[in-house]
Amino acid sequence: MSKMMDTYARQPVTFEKGQGIWLWAKDGKKYLDALSGVAVNGLGHAHPKLVKTISEQILKLIHVSNIYHIAEQEKLAEKLTSISGMDNVFFCNSGCEANEAAIKLARLYGHQNSIDTPEIIVMEKSFHGRTMATLSATGNRKTQAGFEPLVGGFIRVAFDDLEAIQKIASRKNNVVAILAEPIQGEGGINIPNNIQNYLKGLREICDQHNWLLMLDEVQCGIGRTGKWFAYQHTSIKPDVMSLAKGLGSGIPIGACLARGKASHVFTPGKHGSTFGGNPLATSAGYATLSIIEEEKLCAHASKMGALINDEFTKHLKEFNQVKAIRNLGLMVGIEFNEPCGELTKLALDEGLLINVTADKVVRLLPPLVINEKEAKELVNRLSKVIRNFLLK
Ligand SMILES: *Cc1c(COP(=O)(O)O)cnc(C)c1O
Repeated sequence: MSKMMDTYARQPVTFEKGQGIWLWAKDGKKYLDALSGVAVNGLGHAHPKLVKTISEQILKLIHVSNIYHIAEQEKLAEKLTSISGMDNVFFCNSGCEANEAAIKLARLYGHQNSIDTPEIIVMEKSFHGRTMATLSATGNRKTQAGFEPLVGGFIRVAFDDLEAIQKIASRKNNVVAILAEPIQGEGGINIPNNIQNYLKGLREICDQHNWLLMLDEVQCGIGRTGKWFAYQHTSIKPDVMSLAKGLGSGIPIGACLARGKASHVFTPGKHGSTFGGNPLATSAGYATLSIIEEEKLCAHASKMGALINDEFTKHLKEFNQVKAIRNLGLMVGIEFNEPCGELTKLALDEGLLINVTADKVVRLLPPLVINEKEAKELVNRLSKVIRNFLLK
């Protein structure tokens, strides 16, 4: 019996090493990684420049404390604010922590503006993490069940529905923020019908009512959708943005960025993290961003995403069980009319790592470094698995 707590339904495989988009299991079998450790390994596995940077950093310093100035985190904060147009950064270690920081920031902002019971508007089918506050913000009953009483102060509306938010605005005066993923990941790769209109609409409502627009880009940020951040497909900027997953290429790091009035809310003693922004994690973050820039991986992700979508559309057009194929960059979803959870294991048998989310959606988040040949290989392998699954 494993001594691990039983929190994951794991696939029957153990990996030993990786290179680029490929992973090798202990038995020597080679797998195409189309999941990237859930949007973490954007640079693929064992990227030589990343390995060099973190190896050198370990020899110098791994951790000190936020009691002191940390040059590596200053450098990463400089870079992150420059590519995002945000003003400042709080570093933590994961996505849920980045969202916790955002939620605390929004509540404090409310209190500073004489709102004693601040509430945050959140979306159906959203995912924000597994801590008590973030699972309460999450729009999935499965994530919440058994953990009641939930943290209060969240109002839920349908995703991609501006009218629902207008209605709340007209009857409530204690709302302080909207928290939303520009593209829902766990919820099934849900892309707003018109991302520009939706985010612009959210921005306008927030401006009218003095609310903070807080975007959870933990999954869709860091080049994944073909831009550094998904909101950069639009003309707006958020007041707060959370990041994690792809930021450290696997070295745990999260970040909560703020802009304008949101950037002055926290003061010393209001928030903190022991490990947050340590020299190792922030040098991994800086190296990740530098490599994405040098290798022009945002534009590349956009191109590869379009190619993958086109190829799947060709390969799967005969199947009416395939309801939709959608992508923005390398966030790709294939939605079925029926539950398709079995596909994860069937793909594994074919040497392909994928994931099924929201019961009916195959989610693909391949490394940003995937090349054209590999992208076609991915489509060929998965199309074969899907064909066998549907014709069984
Ligand atoms: C994964 C994810 C989180 C949670 O991140 P953790 O690092 O697992 O805490 C939060 N928001 C979104 C959109 C995510 O995809």
